[in-house]
Amino acid sequence: MVNGFYVQDANQLIRKRNLQYVLVALFIVVNIFIWSAVAHADRRGLLTVAFLDVGQGDAIYIEAPNGNQMLIDGGPSSGALLRAIGQVMPFWDRSLDVVLATHPDQDHVGGFPALLESMNIENVVTTENTATTGAYRAFEDGVFEEGAHCVLARAGERIILDDGVVLEVLFPNKNAKGWDTNTSSIVARLSYGSTSFLLTGDSPQSIEQYLINKESGKINADVLKLAHHGSKTASSKLFLSAVDPEYAVISVGKDNKYGHPNKEVLDLLADFKISTLSTIDRGTILFETDGGNLYLR
Ligand SMILES: [Zn+2]
Repeated sequence: MVNGFYVQDANQLIRKRNLQYVLVALFIVVNIFIWSAVAHADRRGLLTVAFLDVGQGDAIYIEAPNGNQMLIDGGPSSGALLRAIGQVMPFWDRSLDVVLATHPDQDHVGGFPALLESMNIENVVTTENTATTGAYRAFEDGVFEEGAHCVLARAGERIILDDGVVLEVLFPNKNAKGWDTNTSSIVARLSYGSTSFLLTGDSPQSIEQYLINKESGKINADVLKLAHHGSKTASSKLFLSAVDPEYAVISVGKDNKYGHPNKEVLDLLADFKISTLSTIDRGTILFETDGGNLYLR
C-alpha cells in the first residue's frame, strides 16, 4: 500500500460476520489529491494486470502506476495463491489496498484466508451473495479478524486506484443474496487511458446478455478474462463480438475435472481471431499498459 484509495458512489460500507450485515454509514477515506504529489516515476506510469497461475480458479493482481494494489479473487487454495502472488509482489510488501471476491465459490475465495492472515488488507469488496461452505466461512472469518472495510459491489460503483485508473462495477445491479453463485459474480471493467480489461468472474451467458442490453457502451475491452474458466456456460458469440477483445485470458488448471476450457469456446475464439492465452500454457499472464499501449510480458 502506498497511497490513497477511493471508492466513488459507494453508499454502503458493511462489516459482516456469519451472514450478518451491519450497516455502517461511512465512506472509505480518500485523498485523491495525494496522488498528484507522489512520484509516478517508480513504475514509469505503468499499470500491471497479472492473471495469476493458481490452477483451477481465478486470481487477478492489479498494480496501479502510483503503487496501489488490488487483488480480484483468491484462487482455490492458500498454497496456490501465496506462491503465485509471490511472483508479482516483492516479499517485503505485506499489504494490499483492495481485495475483491467476485462470488463465494472456493476456486475464487479459497486462498483468501491465508492472504488475510499474512497481509494487511485495507478494503474488501463482495456482494450479498454468500455460501455455507467451509471455504467461504473461513473467508468471512478472515475478513472479520482483519477488520477490513467492506464494500458491497453495485453497478455504477467506481474504484479509483490512481489518476485515470478506474475499476467500474457493471454487475450486480441489485442485492444478489440467494442467487446462484456464478450468476452473482461481480463483473467489472478496469480502464486506464484507452486500454481496458473486462473481468467477468464465472458469469453465465444470461448475464452476458444483460450486459449487452444494459451496458453495451461499457463492455468493449482490449482484454477479456473469459468467464467461468472458458466453460461453454459463458462466452457467447454475441458477447465476444460486443466485447471485441484483442486478447482472451483463460484462468484454468491443467487436466481439470470440468473439461475447461470448452472446445467450442476455443473454436469460437479462433473464428473471431482473438489471441487466446491460458494459464495452463503460459503460467501467470502479465500485461502492462501506459494507458495507450498494451504490452503482453
Ligand atoms: Zn470459478
